[in-house]
Amino acid sequence: MSVSSNSSASDGVDWQDVEPDEEQLTFTSPFGPETFPTLRELLDHCQNTKGFDLVATFKRLGLDFHGGVKLVNFLRCSTRDSTPVRNEVTAEDFADDKYLIPVLENDALLFSLDEILEQENESAVTSEGAASGPSELAAQNKELQAQLEALKEQFANYRLAVEETLDRRWGDEKEPAPSNIAPKKDNGDYYFESYAANEIHETMLKDQVRTDAYRDFIYENKNLFAGKTVLDIGCGTGILSMFCAKAGASHVIAVDKSDIIAKATENVFNNGLSDKITCLRGAIEDVKLPVDKVDIIVSEWMGYCLLYEAMLPSVLYARDHYLKEGGLLIPSSATLWIAPIEDPEFVADSIDYWRDVYGFDMKAMQENIYDEVRVQVMPSKIVCGTASPFRCLDLYRVTTDELVFTAEWTSQLTRQIDSLTGFLIWFDNFFAGSTSTYMPNPEETPETWKKQPGDIAFTTGPFEKETHWRQGVMILPPSESSALESGAKLSGTVTFATAESNKRALEIEIAWSTNEKTPITRKWDLK
Ligand code: SAH
Repeated sequence: MSVSSNSSASDGVDWQDVEPDEEQLTFTSPFGPETFPTLRELLDHCQNTKGFDLVATFKRLGLDFHGGVKLVNFLRCSTRDSTPVRNEVTAEDFADDKYLIPVLENDALLFSLDEILEQENESAVTSEGAASGPSELAAQNKELQAQLEALKEQFANYRLAVEETLDRRWGDEKEPAPSNIAPKKDNGDYYFESYAANEIHETMLKDQVRTDAYRDFIYENKNLFAGKTVLDIGCGTGILSMFCAKAGASHVIAVDKSDIIAKATENVFNNGLSDKITCLRGAIEDVKLPVDKVDIIVSEWMGYCLLYEAMLPSVLYARDHYLKEGGLLIPSSATLWIAPIEDPEFVADSIDYWRDVYGFDMKAMQENIYDEVRVQVMPSKIVCGTASPFRCLDLYRVTTDELVFTAEWTSQLTRQIDSLTGFLIWFDNFFAGSTSTYMPNPEETPETWKKQPGDIAFTTGPFEKETHWRQGVMILPPSESSALESGAKLSGTVTFATAESNKRALEIEIAWSTNEKTPITRKWDLK
């Protein structure tokens, strides 16, 4: 999703960074190790040497891009596993969504599926076409460049579809999403499609820390809701809208761009709240609200490490366009925390593990560990220094531009460590009932917060009950981790930036040094 200096080849984004005129695609046969400089030669090889006509198979099975991806990955899996492939392969053979996962890194054949799909347009494949003069060649070159760009974009979308199909946010063991997640639309569409399925909403609703916080705030502040107009941004199943209606709101406008809005409408109807809640399908930035301004905005917009998913800008947009002067924002602030960790067990289980897997050296698998943010629940005992609140977002005032930032952090080690494993990032959320008395204090935690009656807060940190946000784990390569004494001071900066290739993904850069030594900087992708 993003191109960072630490990106490994296997994160699959390097190709996006390569200048078009340096692009050297090599086509690997789906039936063996043979490689070819052009798609044409590869297709000829499949047909003449392997007796498998890829183009005819695409046509016979009526495959679209999505189906084509699965067929290619199926063929590669069969070759890898030495399973013979029938020439009369059927769609059932590769119906399983596991075939969405690329078998080959940067698979040129996948990049070029469109060319197979558009075989009628022979010029796309036979680059030696009809061009003769320099101007025609230049035009053809330009056209090919454009096609390459389009294919790159399509492949980026495909990757995103796979990621969302096998999404980490919603649990590692989940079933693959339905195959109707067609990799044809822009990133925004995938995002909303990922919210169309029940499972995501079930996970969120069952996250009691999360859902209880909203419910308790709304039900414990009925006075704030009585007779008020509320806007629920990204209503999902409609749960927050229904809480608000039950708390006495006179009108709730529930907006969601995902197909889940149909279920929200049904849920609202089945609970006899259709006269109070208006469900609108569409992005908050696009829908026409039935009112000019609202008294309260409620939204559950938080992603991993708070800002992954980039939904907050939509809430800020609505705040600036629709919230009345003095209106209420729920939640009202969020604080991001970082702490150093030492976790030899994690290193043994997740990193050293790859050195000997059933007797095979698989250290190649370790690579991304140092480039990607892992999202998992970590035990509090691994935190080896004081936690540092590096960024506090006052949601009434923060601007979208300020969501890309560099902030300072400091920590003092609370014990002697043999090796710094890395860092942990989490966030707290605050729900304040009053806009006038409340100003967030970055040092406060949900436990230390001087709450007014009705205020609510929760943490996604390692010291309290786990949430579906888990924590962001950033692991250091051994060359960058060192033994440190208890009391040693760590300090540096944390940078949050949007990934270039996907505006919903995050790049997190951490700089750190001990006792005034030269800082080390490393970047991790959360994609
Ligand atoms: N409020 C629900 C769902 C939260 S998940 C609950 O608390 O359970 C976030 C929801 O916001 C998703 O359903 C997603 O489709 C929706 N969403 C994200 N950005 C949006 C936008 N700009 N406009 C409308 N809906 C949006």
